[in-house]
This record gives sequence, structure tokens and C-alpha cells, in this order.
Amino acid sequence: MKEMTVKPLAFTSLPGLSEKLLSEHHDVLYAGYVKKLNEIRSKLETADRAEANASYSLFGELKREETFTANAVKLHEAYFDNLGGNGQPDDAILEMISRDCGGVDTWRAEMTASGIAARGWVVAAYDLDLACLITYICDTHNLGCIWNAVPLVVLDVYEHAYYLDYATGRKSYIEAVLNNLNFAYANDLIKRSDLR
Ligand code: FE
Repeated sequence: MKEMTVKPLAFTSLPGLSEKLLSEHHDVLYAGYVKKLNEIRSKLETADRAEANASYSLFGELKREETFTANAVKLHEAYFDNLGGNGQPDDAILEMISRDCGGVDTWRAEMTASGIAARGWVVAAYDLDLACLITYICDTHNLGCIWNAVPLVVLDVYEHAYYLDYATGRKSYIEAVLNNLNFAYANDLIKRSDLR
């Protein structure tokens, strides 16, 4: 199994997101998920398949936590890769937002409402079956995930993502994140995956 490594952050602080907040989130929390994912996959190599059982088995529990932890890694990487820009969508993602989501202001309002409603993640994804951009929420890393959808813009709305800077002010945090979005990540994925 491929060993995961911690993807470095491209910045130390951003307007409205402090260095302390970002380093706790990236260097401690996200890096911890990478370490655990490697541990889970290493233990899976030797877990006894003959004892697999849906109520309890070591193999089953490791497989279950693999989905939780792998999604934690993927979603955090997308979240950090989505930051470091000026918040202004352009190019292919702007076309999608305009075509599928009623324009930038309506999309931002949808992302904000979803971020207040979610207990974990907001994922603006290109749904391959609907052939459009749609906003999904995910209450924990492996609950609410939609298959056949490519995550393009990801917001972490767990309390650890904002509490140090905003206490309970989640809406202000979401606004700060939206203002720091870097749409190069989404535009690159749209082009690489030939989404339209
Ligand atoms: Fe997080």
C-alpha cells in the first residue's frame, strides 16, 4: 500500500486565519490523520480475513476506520489546497458556478448556509451523474459522502477549524474562508478530469 505523506502548507497565515489556528489544524490534526491512515493500512496487511464479521472483527474495524481516516486526509488536503487565493472564482469554475448555481453571490450564500447547517464538511462537487456542480454536506468524514462526485471546493466547518480565532462565530469564519479561496485547485481538477 502506498505510504501517505503530509502535504506541506503553501502559507503560514491568511487574512482572518491565524498562524496558530492553521498550524494546529495542519501540523497537528491533519498530520495525525496521515499517520493513522498509514498505521491502519499497515495493520490491514496482516489482519485475519478469515475472522471478518459485521458485528466485530479486527479486519472489519480497520476497514471501517480506513474510510473515516482516508476521507479525513483527502478532505483536509482539498481544504488546504483551496486556500491562499483572493476568493474570486474565475475560468472554468466560474462558468460552472454561473451555469449551475445561480451566480457567485447565490453560490456563496449556499456555501454559507451549508456551512452553518453541516457538522463537518461542505463539499461543492461536480456530480458526474447530474453533470453539474452541487453543494453537499458531510456530517463526519465518512458520513454523507456521495460517490461519483468530484470535490472541487471543500470547507472544514468542524469547531477545530475556527474556534481558536472565532470561538462560536462560525459564520464569520466561513466568510473568511470564502474570501481566501484559491480556485486554481478547482480549475486544475476540472481540466484534468475533463469536467464540463
Ligand atoms: Fe479539520
